[in-house]
Amino acid sequence: MSSKNDQLFARAQLSTPGGVNSPVRAFRSVGGTPRFITKAEGPYFWDADDRRYIDYIGSWGPAIVGHAHPDVVKAVQEAATRGLSFGAPTEAEIEMAELICRLVPSIEQVRLVSSGTEAAMSALRLARGATGRDKIIKFEGCYHGHADSLLVKAGSGLLTFGNPTSAGVPEDFAKHTLVLDYNDPQQLENVFKEMGDSIACVIVEPVAGNMNLLPATPEFLHTMRRVCTQYGAVMILDEVMSGFRVALGGAQSLSGITPDLTVLGKVIGGGLPVAAFGGRADIMRHLAPLGGVYQAGTLSGNPVTVAAGMATLKLIQAPGFYENLTAQSAKLVQGFSTAAREADIAFCANSVGGMFGLYFATEVPVSYDTMMKCDKTRFNAFFHAMLDAGVYLAPSAFEAGFVSAQHDDAVIDSSIKAARAAFAQLA
Ligand code: PLP
Repeated sequence: MSSKNDQLFARAQLSTPGGVNSPVRAFRSVGGTPRFITKAEGPYFWDADDRRYIDYIGSWGPAIVGHAHPDVVKAVQEAATRGLSFGAPTEAEIEMAELICRLVPSIEQVRLVSSGTEAAMSALRLARGATGRDKIIKFEGCYHGHADSLLVKAGSGLLTFGNPTSAGVPEDFAKHTLVLDYNDPQQLENVFKEMGDSIACVIVEPVAGNMNLLPATPEFLHTMRRVCTQYGAVMILDEVMSGFRVALGGAQSLSGITPDLTVLGKVIGGGLPVAAFGGRADIMRHLAPLGGVYQAGTLSGNPVTVAAGMATLKLIQAPGFYENLTAQSAKLVQGFSTAAREADIAFCANSVGGMFGLYFATEVPVSYDTMMKCDKTRFNAFFHAMLDAGVYLAPSAFEAGFVSAQHDDAVIDSSIKAARAAFAQLA
């Protein structure tokens, strides 16, 4: 008899394209049946067949304090009893804006929205409106949500503009997006020398988590800061994933880089839909109702989602929170690396704060190209061996993993034990 997960997947595909509401959930990359989740608590979730998993995706980042944290649940319940949505401002939105500005000092003013896609898209429009320029630079392998002008891959030559990576994106939209190589400061500098006066902004993931885990080098970020200042382009750090995940002040606090704008999401909603973009007040003033750059949202600053976000942001300020998160992620990847070495598997791993990357390669990749050479077939076999052992990793070789504050030593140790058995199976 097929499992409940199989039955649900078959049923879901009748009413929803691919059976899921976001493509990676369909397990297309790794094969097999997606797990339909029924409940989650702490570092665990349970599927429709009542199997428990140690969860290393944490809702793709938001669940940093663990699932269903009592403080977050209580805040949501209390907010919900006072009304679900008003479409008028609340004091809680001011508190959240003030807190974000305090924790991320490059953000002088911030606007709340409902998804990382919306935040990144709005930040681009703002940069274009503030500079009066159309061209934008992004980097191959970085994901900034699914706004049209960001679903673009590199053109065939260095100074050619991009091609759409999705059907439905007109070439005209892609032609303003220049896609460069991540961690290549010289190329960035050359492009600015060639056309810097027409570039509105550069957007980058300072710790890329959408091509596995690939941190930007300090030289890359410093060059970006320098050329953006020199040519009057807006430097945008997309910290939807890294914000409040790699450190309390985000990746910018680790690198010492001050961007002009920052994009946030995931953790700031604590599992409910909150995202934000913010930065220099002189740029933010271009937004409606003050300026001519339009941006709006029926559910922006929603009282219930903001309550979840504020409860989460309160918890992550506890002394030692990031030291513990960083130590647990490091312990996990060290344990996995040792287990792979014992089984003589070409594997390495890396972590930054509460994010980690697993690479089936002999060296930690430093570029998009080297990342893409990691052994995907081996990853898929590892993924399924871990899943069978009750450890849920990201169902794709090219997505980062996430540790929460509830992943204690016992949870990490049992994950390493599962990895040792999984590597032995691969050998
Ligand atoms: N930017 C980054 C760096 C992301 O990782 C994501 C989503 O994973 C987004 C933007 C888009 O966020 P959302 O899925 O909330 O639209």
